[in-house]
Amino acid sequence: AAKKSGRNRFACFDHSMERELQTRNDLENGLRHAIPNHEIVPYFEQQIDLASERLHGFEVLARWEHPQRGTISPEIFIPIAEETGMIGDLSLSIMKQAFSAARDWDPSLSLSVNISPWQLRDAWLAQKIIKVLAETGFPPTRLEVEITESSLFENLALAQSIVGSLKNQGVRIALDDFGTGYSSLAHLRALPFDRIKIDKSFVQSINESADSAAIVNAIARLGESLNLPVTAEGIETAAIAERLRAIGCAKAQGWYYGKPLSVTAARRLLAERRLLRGQSTPRESDVQS
Ligand code: C2E
Ligand code: MG
Ligand code: MG
Ligand code: MG
Repeated sequence: AAKKSGRNRFACFDHSMERELQTRNDLENGLRHAIPNHEIVPYFEQQIDLASERLHGFEVLARWEHPQRGTISPEIFIPIAEETGMIGDLSLSIMKQAFSAARDWDPSLSLSVNISPWQLRDAWLAQKIIKVLAETGFPPTRLEVEITESSLFENLALAQSIVGSLKNQGVRIALDDFGTGYSSLAHLRALPFDRIKIDKSFVQSINESADSAAIVNAIARLGESLNLPVTAEGIETAAIAERLRAIGCAKAQGWYYGKPLSVTAARRLLAERRLLRGQSTPRESDVQS
């Protein structure tokens, strides 16, 4: 600790850094128990088909329900899980819980899960995911895996083989947060993506910034010519949803459609909409004439 007043500024700085490190250590130690204790749980964010305004499925988002600290954001604990090598176990635990929960949901509903670039270093990743699918009875054809661009190409051959094994089972692959990070059009060709997701940073300013509108429009046109449907994330208003529909985005998600839901809340919503397994009545447009 600094004794001279002239160093107080630095002393303060040191203390706050110390506290930050302490918190980080606490979180890291906590995380080790949190995974087996099921404190890391899946939340479900609605994904809407923009043309029909129907619920298409959910993106699975991890939450840490910490017994003392309350709910912790994945922006905080995912990087810790990555750096400590716990991300693989965390991810499989989230998938197990999400797939089990979704088993009694209507078969029309899909799930999207996020995969960290770190997991693409695991040569057994595809086999592990396929095993969880088999154990939970969730059909691979209803699963989409979201991969961000960042460091995708650290080991491209391995990423390609993992993605190939997943696609062989009918799992779809989405390129997440497109337009941010290590954005490169070459990424679109390196892996057989089935979808592009436009990052919310472009979407949210679409009605204020001509540049954002131009970028979103360009991504939508790119998706069209590559035959890749585009999902926009981070929709907070009806005006933005309308604009995206006009631009030709296939799907949308964001707080305008609802905040991410716990398993219980998602189930309640689906029960209300008669979207639990065996509960659905034929939709008008599905009836053959
Ligand atoms: P992401 O995959 O791009 O997920 C979208 C993030 O935007 C989510 O934040 C979501 O809650 C938030 N969001 C959705 N709609 C809106 C909106 O209308 N307005 C605003 N302001 N935000 C919105 P979240 O849940 O905090 O997740 C952050 C990131 O953490 C995710 O970004 C994803 O990269 C990562 N993540 C979350 N769960 C997992 C996981 O299970 N595994 C891995 N590897 N990463 C995860
Ligand atoms: Mg995502
Ligand atoms: Mg995203
Ligand atoms: Mg994003």
